[in-house]
Amino acid sequence: MQTSVVLFTCDLRLSDHPPLRAALHGGGRVVPLFVRDPAVDAAGFAAPNRLAFLSDCLRDLDARLRERGGRLVLREGDTVTEVCRVAAEADADEVHMAGDVSAFAHMRERRLRRALEADGRRLYVHDTVCTAVAPGAVTPASSDHFAVFTPYYRRWSAQGLRDALDAPGAVVVPEQVGSAPLPKRGDVNGVSPGLCAGGETEGRRRLTAWLRSGVAAYEECHDDLAGDATSRLSPHLHFGTLSPVEVVHRARRAGGAGAEAFVRQVAWRDFNRQVLAARPDAAARDYRTHRDRWRGGRDAEADAQTWREGRTGYPIVDAAMRQLRHEGWMHNRGRLLAASFLTKTLYVDWRVGARHFLDLLVDGDMANNQLNWQWMAGTGTDTRPNRVLNPVTQGKRYDPDGAYVRRWVEELADVKAAGVHEPWKLPAPERGSTGYPEPVVSLAEGLDRFKRARATA
Ligand SMILES: Cc1cc2nc3c(=O)[nH]c(=O)nc-3n(C[C@H](O)[C@H](O)[C@H](O)COP(=O)(O)OP(=O)(O)OC[C@H]3O[C@@H](n4cnc5c(N)ncnc54)[C@H](O)[C@@H]3O)c2cc1C
Repeated sequence: MQTSVVLFTCDLRLSDHPPLRAALHGGGRVVPLFVRDPAVDAAGFAAPNRLAFLSDCLRDLDARLRERGGRLVLREGDTVTEVCRVAAEADADEVHMAGDVSAFAHMRERRLRRALEADGRRLYVHDTVCTAVAPGAVTPASSDHFAVFTPYYRRWSAQGLRDALDAPGAVVVPEQVGSAPLPKRGDVNGVSPGLCAGGETEGRRRLTAWLRSGVAAYEECHDDLAGDATSRLSPHLHFGTLSPVEVVHRARRAGGAGAEAFVRQVAWRDFNRQVLAARPDAAARDYRTHRDRWRGGRDAEADAQTWREGRTGYPIVDAAMRQLRHEGWMHNRGRLLAASFLTKTLYVDWRVGARHFLDLLVDGDMANNQLNWQWMAGTGTDTRPNRVLNPVTQGKRYDPDGAYVRRWVEELADVKAAGVHEPWKLPAPERGSTGYPEPVVSLAEGLDRFKRARATA
């Protein structure tokens, strides 16, 4: 009987899982393997919120495998060494895994292929596991990737998706392959108090609830900060507890303008992945540089620290930053405002902000985080690189009665809608009693500094 190893990475599910399906083809035995690799931690990915979510995912994956007669095998160490070791213990002929886009993932795949081949084994890498459309499947005539979303989206939408696959009915794991104990969420320190639960079971529950009662209003309500009317599926897409192919199929079946707008956002995720696949250096370097000489030194660090702490004196920015700390997640409009404020109003390097987001975001993701930061900093694919979001006008537009600010900024919890986005305009006694900080910089000064830096003044 043939034996295969399935290496799980960013695809922690059983439903719609092409590597698992391929490994089980013909009724063979399978080792479902996850490797906790210290190199991933050393590269700065091991943030507490993501480790806690990961623990939920691994436990849920194990439980779902056990329902089918199998179990998850967890190993700790260098991925290549551990996969080769498990393949030898199980006497496996093949290893199956999902393709991924970061420089780290590319290197891991190359090393693994070489090592397995040296042992006489084969590595199969499957696409459309972590994206709906594979990076590179659609390209413009003159380049290896799209740098503009609209034409990408046109081609992406026209691309036929493969059918979603059911979870397997039975999984037989060779007895001789042992596992390290699975981690527990409770063992992780420094987790945000409002962190959501992980795992495929929870992801599928959320997706079903979203398509039943959330997606229809998505188009009108997705920017309503207080309404919190987005799917919150990002951690599940990041850890692969949901399949993007299945998400798109099911949303399209739900139909309507809301579902269409939602699918368009999922396409943004694929868009960023095809950029990073073609330009892995964009995780750390400007995609399109303006030769920015970002502010450095003590003043800039002090300003960045007020931003991290949600004490800039701009309520909508501070609310978003405090939501991030409390939940390990932030609304997209908040992410845009927070990133614009750091990179443009404070003129601090986008990498400083991206690092802080990666330290806290449960969905913190190389492609989506770094490239969205670059978008907002104007060093990425935005065709209007010098746009600056005004936190006061944006606050009034996307949080008109101030409910989002009052929810997260406790100093302003009792301030009425009219004053909540401009607390510096409150009458002196009321303003003083809030204890809320003065603006770290005036918007006019910040804008002027940015325009001079980009030589657009
Ligand atoms: C500075 C900044 C940093 C970001 N960092 C991340 C990150 O690390 N990880 C991450 O998944 N998203 C990131 N985003 C994109 C976006 O903010 C989140 O995906 C979204 O807020 C997640 O909430 P949701 O699941 O409710 O999204 P929904 O609005 O319900 O959208 C559905 C899905 O589409 C995808 N999506 C939505 N908006 C975007 C977008 N602008 N770019 C790419 N994909 C998108 C996500 O997978 C999301 O789950 C970032 C955006 C900005 C501006």
